[in-house]
Amino acid sequence: MQPVCGTRCGSATLVVTPGIEAPAHTRVRVPGYSLIEIRQADMDRLVASDDAVLYWVIAHEYGHHLDMTAGNANLDGDWGLELRAEALAGCALERAGLIIDPVLDLSRRSEAAAGRGAVLAEQFGSDGTHPHWRYMRHAILAGYAACADGARTVDEVAASVTTLTAQVVRNRSPLLRTAGARGSRDDVVPDGAQELAAPVQPLLP
Ligand SMILES: [Zn+2]
Repeated sequence: MQPVCGTRCGSATLVVTPGIEAPAHTRVRVPGYSLIEIRQADMDRLVASDDAVLYWVIAHEYGHHLDMTAGNANLDGDWGLELRAEALAGCALERAGLIIDPVLDLSRRSEAAAGRGAVLAEQFGSDGTHPHWRYMRHAILAGYAACADGARTVDEVAASVTTLTAQVVRNRSPLLRTAGARGSRDDVVPDGAQELAAPVQPLLP
């Protein structure tokens, strides 16, 4: 099977390291070459979990690498970037013949663990840098379906989340937009923000 990156795959190196901020992160060193870092503690947890979950985390990061190698912008906190990486991860799971359910289950558990905060997270994202779990699940399912239907390129997989990206960005809080793309939820949620959090239309049943 042809890789979705065709002849523009670049290369990426995976390192497991103790001291990074996020559980996993992809940095472009030079165009076409990325360094994917996974925090040691998170890697240990992933290895002990389901194969599909481990595969998904690495595939999401590799998705960032392919997306950026394809020429898409690398903007920290760009939610479109996150949705495309997730769609590429969904495609990778489909192509690897892995079932997607353990990944969706983990996402739902994370959402449930957020409890009341999940209402705010509709607008502020799951952690300030990624869209709400609901949208990430939608993206992974869209990418999975795209590749099941024969998508063959990074652009074709990315196109599966174009509409979703528009919707998510439209629903994003004006507070977050003015505060800049980067930053944790705590940086941008003022006191009493709960009153400002209008629920958005769910995209999934
Ligand atoms: Zn990401």
